[in-house]
This record gives sequence, structure tokens and C-alpha cells, in this order.
Amino acid sequence: MNQTNLIKPVLDHEYPLITHGKGIYLYDEQGKQYIDGSSGAVTASIGHGVQEIIDAMAEQSKKVSFVYRSQFSTEAAEKLAKKISEISPGDLNWSFFVNSGSEATETAMKVAIQYWQEKGMKTKNKIISRWMSYHGITMGALSMSGHITRRQLFEPMLEKYPSVSAPYYYRDAAHKTIEECDDFYAQELEKAILRAGKDNVAAFIAEPMIGAAGGALIPSDQYFQKMKAVCDEYDVLFIADEVMTGMGRTGKMFGMEHFNVIPDIMATGKGMSAGYTPMAATIVSEKVMEPILNGSKIIMSGHTFSANPQSAATSLAVLNYIEKNNLVENSARMGAYLKEKINELARTSEIIGDVRGKGLFVGIEFVKDKLTKKSFARELDVVNKIVQLNFDEGLLVYPANAGAEGLTGDAVILSPPLTITKEEVDELVRRFAMALGKVERELLGELSKS
Ligand code: PMP
Repeated sequence: MNQTNLIKPVLDHEYPLITHGKGIYLYDEQGKQYIDGSSGAVTASIGHGVQEIIDAMAEQSKKVSFVYRSQFSTEAAEKLAKKISEISPGDLNWSFFVNSGSEATETAMKVAIQYWQEKGMKTKNKIISRWMSYHGITMGALSMSGHITRRQLFEPMLEKYPSVSAPYYYRDAAHKTIEECDDFYAQELEKAILRAGKDNVAAFIAEPMIGAAGGALIPSDQYFQKMKAVCDEYDVLFIADEVMTGMGRTGKMFGMEHFNVIPDIMATGKGMSAGYTPMAATIVSEKVMEPILNGSKIIMSGHTFSANPQSAATSLAVLNYIEKNNLVENSARMGAYLKEKINELARTSEIIGDVRGKGLFVGIEFVKDKLTKKSFARELDVVNKIVQLNFDEGLLVYPANAGAEGLTGDAVILSPPLTITKEEVDELVRRFAMALGKVERELLGELSKS
């Protein structure tokens, strides 16, 4: 898959041209059918072509498609804000609507800094993140991201924020138990805060489960409690990046609900509008809003399309659809079934080293040697081979980095629409197994040559 990602306005395009989608399936102009096994980067969470959503979009566009947020509010935006506040944990009641996950995390960062500014603490402006993380592509979001390949080109222009380890138990050979690992991660965070100076650190940001930079890395039940305790001790806000894990993806409405920790600020996107329109949000707690409401009143951010009524109406319809069809529960149930099926394959596979995940957010890490957990050489580009062979079988899987600091290692994420049925999971696994067989034959052939 070496195509460019720009679109040239001619019809000899390099990517297959998708003509339509229905449920978990996409179809190209040659009539080939693909299972959207990744929901297109963990986004199309209710599947394609849902009539109810299309109707809601049409309904809103008959009323009004755009007003400028700095002048007007709309019923669609107000209703969406109410819904978000109802489904969010704790007192995360305030929504700031943006258009992408990157804008949502970047706004979260700005809100955290603004919070301390309003409280008169002008130097509290650094954000601590983890080496294996992805929080978005804009310069602020990228400054908080440990995604090495995406940073490379822009490194000199990025903020030098402190980074700590991610909970990657599969490869944490330095500690004997998960408890020891978690204690180490919490101590590392404490040291990073002390090194930067507690009066200089505004927030710690983390994905509840690491996506693009790790391949669905799942922390222990205690990890976030220990990390949050350190944050609280040093007056550091906690931002949860729920862009991938939010809106039912992991079998709960938000990923953090698995860990009984309530963030101060949350960023969400992707599944929030399931790809029908761009929509994302920064969700802010009462605690964080208080000094802002008593001070500047407004969040120092804003985009032309913030709270776009068309997107707000769509997102509201998506969230209602998730609720009405019990898709969070389906995600938990079908996710467990999918993981069980992949674990069955892993038992006989020579190259599946680790299967992990919660709900329909399942990560699979591939290794050269299951015993030593040694990764394949970078030059073999195993992850892209796997993605391509699955693509050939008519299954879309999401490539993720894995390995030390996201530099080495190959993982994919399976994250089909939350609507998936048991029969559809079986078909997905059948295609995955076919591709896996081919990958194994190809790789073992190449390894025996080398
Ligand atoms: N945060 C996380 C956890 C993500 O996975 C992503 C996108 N992969 C982003 C932020 C950025 O979202 P977007 O691509 O919509 O800007």
C-alpha cells in the first residue's frame, strides 16, 4: 500500500473507488465486497448506510446547515451537549464541539493550561504524555504524542514535553508482576512531574487503551487509579483521550469506565458521529470550568465549524442509535466472542504473539518468535503485508505500531462496527485466518531464505 494520500482529480485513481456501504460491508466499483473490520480507523461504529442517520441529516439540512458558533446556538448543538453530559461520567458536563480528534485533544490541552492561568498559576503549562501514544496530527496534539514515525519530520518544531512509559505488560520484562509494573509507571510519572517542577505541569494525557501507537494496549484495573493518585498529589489535571475508545467501542460507553477513574477533561471524536459527518468534542468537568466561568468565561479556542448544526444533529442521531440498539452491550458481547476466536487462531499460529482488547477493540501483535517475543525486522514491513493480504481477502484491518516506544513491532486492531452479529464475526475471522495462513507461508519462506 504505497499510494499517495492526496487526491488527484482524475479517474485513474490509485485506491479502489468505493461506491457504497451497508452495515459492516463496503463495496468498490469492481463489485468487490470488504468487511470493514476496522470501522475505517475505529470510526464507522454503527456501520454504513443507516437510514435513521441519513433521515436525521436530511431533516437538519432542511432546517439549517450552518450558523457561526460565535453568533448563534442551535437546537441540534444544545441537544447534543445535553446527551453528552448525560452519558459522560461524573461531572463532565460541558462540551466544546470541534471537527476532529486532533482538535479535541488540542483543545483539551488548551483548556488545561487555561484552567491554571485563570487560577493565577501562569507557569503550569507542560503536558506529560506517554512514549507510546497518539493524540493527533496538529502541532499541539503531536507535541503530546509519542508516535515516533508521525513526529519525525516535525521534531524540531514540537514542544519538548516529558514522556513516561506506557503499560505494556507483554514487553515489560523488567518487572515480575503487573502490580510491580504499575508501581513503576506511577513512580515514573511522579519523577517526571518533579523533574519538570510541579508548578510547571498542567496535565497528564493518556488514551484509556492505546490504539495507533500500540495496537490496543489494555492497562490493569489498578493502573489508572495509581496514575490519577499521582496527578492529584501534584495538582496535575488528568485528560483522557477517548477519541478511539469512546462511544461504546470497548464495551462501555467510555474506556475510562473500565477503571473507575473520572478524568478532569475528555477528548472524543471518531465514533461520536460514526463517520457520517466530522464531529468531535472536548468534554470538561465542572471543577475545570469553575475558574474559567469566573474569569474569561469562554474557552480560548474556536473553529469556523465548531458545533456545526449538521454535524451535531448527525452525532445526536448516532448516539441515540447506539443507545436504542444496545450497541455498547453488543460491543462487549461480540468483542469477547471475537477475542476468543482470535485466541483460538493464536494457539496454532506461529506468529501471533499476543491477543488483547476489550469489547470490539481487539489488538493482535505479531512476532518472529513466540517464546522470546522477538519482533520481525523493520525491513520486512510485516504489518503492511498483513494489512494487504487481509485487504485481498476482503477484510480491512487497522495497522498499529507496537514494540519498544512504538519503533519496532507489528500489530493490527480489529474494531468492526458495534452492530456486528455473531455470523458476521465468524465470516470476519474466516477471512482473517485465510490472510494469516498466507502471511505465515510468505514470512516463513522469507525467513528460511535469510
Ligand atoms: N486521539 C486518538 C487516540 C486517535 O486514535 C486519533 C486518530 N487516530 C486522534 C486522537 C486524532 O483524531 P483525528 O484523526 O480525528 O484528528
